[in-house]
Amino acid sequence: MRIAIVGGTGYVGFCTGLGFASKRHDVVLIDLNAKKLAGVREGRCPVYEPGAAEILRKVLDQGNLTTATIIPEADIILLAVGTPSLPDGGINVTQIKKVSETIGSTIKTWNTSPVIVVKSTVVPGTTETVVKPIVESTSGKHAGTDFGLVMNPEFLREGVALKDFLNPDRIVIGEYDKRSGDLVATLYKDFPGTLMRTSLAAAEMIKYANNAFLATKISFINEIGNLCKRLGIDIDEVAKGIALDKRIAPHFLQSGVGYGGSCFPKDVAALASLAKQNGYEPKLLNEVMALNKRQRRLLLDRLGPMKGKRVAVLGLAFKPNTDDVRESPAIDIIGDLVNQGASVVAYDPQAMITMKQVFPNILYAQTAKEALQTADACVVLTDWNEFKELTIEDFTQMHGTQIIEGRRILKPEINADGLCW
Ligand code: NAD
Repeated sequence: MRIAIVGGTGYVGFCTGLGFASKRHDVVLIDLNAKKLAGVREGRCPVYEPGAAEILRKVLDQGNLTTATIIPEADIILLAVGTPSLPDGGINVTQIKKVSETIGSTIKTWNTSPVIVVKSTVVPGTTETVVKPIVESTSGKHAGTDFGLVMNPEFLREGVALKDFLNPDRIVIGEYDKRSGDLVATLYKDFPGTLMRTSLAAAEMIKYANNAFLATKISFINEIGNLCKRLGIDIDEVAKGIALDKRIAPHFLQSGVGYGGSCFPKDVAALASLAKQNGYEPKLLNEVMALNKRQRRLLLDRLGPMKGKRVAVLGLAFKPNTDDVRESPAIDIIGDLVNQGASVVAYDPQAMITMKQVFPNILYAQTAKEALQTADACVVLTDWNEFKELTIEDFTQMHGTQIIEGRRILKPEINADGLCW
């Protein structure tokens, strides 16, 4: 199939594009960022994702992936643009609206009936009440007859995005019309996982409920972890014990400094905001968000006043194997340290370029060991595998002895103070 992906150099657009191209579909990535598109043509990935460079090289060589700045004629036009948060927690649909206009004016002259697939995370109702009317008015065509409409949420995780995309637990196809649902089902025909066909709004809600549930699991285990810390109980033994219950499962049960990233914080906030708009007080969701923020505060409180002190921050990405720092705990923690008058020296294997855009004026070390040199204190905020290799000797280069782990990754003999263990 010919698939045009709008937002094609973003995390979701790019990984989706690589995934479909690796299945021999003809994919065209469209984006506003011409520099990144040029990079893709030369084999450079616009985002850091393990394994992506090899697949990019292969699909470019096979001729299954190209780039464009305008949408070419295609069977499927997939929207993967951003839906960032508004100050009230709701989502900003500016990019969705703009792209819907562009799609409408583009398909106006087409003699075919493309299917428009919304892959961006959008609150229930958006595909039908925002995308559909804009495409209809700008194209002069009708949904369900002249063009199709599907909402197909994405569940991939950064760091394992390609594996997740190609091996989903389930594929959700929210359809406005059956023909479009059938076409998108064909697109996924040789993917593993359960294929589920729903209404547009149910598909939109499944994505939010999914992320809100996982965020709840994290805040739950952090609550238990904070209590275990006070009681001298090892939270990881407790987490392992409950994870053996099939009804619970082991994922998202690592207590620590809390969740970040471009999805959980924004999606839980958007769901809470939607609830409020509909006259329902989302008590559990509010508490999940508050507990998550509190983990960052607890770490800073444990550190104590840092004015005039040098603090090594190991790990800037919101999770390992990505360069994404959006809503990373490191942002709040570094911001607070800088405001206090501490001198921060940061290190991350992949995320220093992205973090430099947020904090251009802190110090960045070339290695974790270098960051530790002469530091009065150290905090570990991302569980990158390479931090497992740090030795007691590396930490003896510090001036102080305070080492606080927000993620459990250092060798036990280093005797760091775990946030919840
Ligand atoms: P992103 O910011 O990395 O990518 C968005 C891309 O859209 C950018 O490359 C931007 O240049 C491009 N863009 C914006 N306006 C455009 C326009 N008018 N024309 C062409 N391109 C345009 O965002 P992301 O992280 O890939 O997320 C995209 C959507 O997918 C969001 O709704 C997000 O919530 C959802 N999602 C993200 C993840 C994730 O792990 N990042 C997972 C599942 C779902």
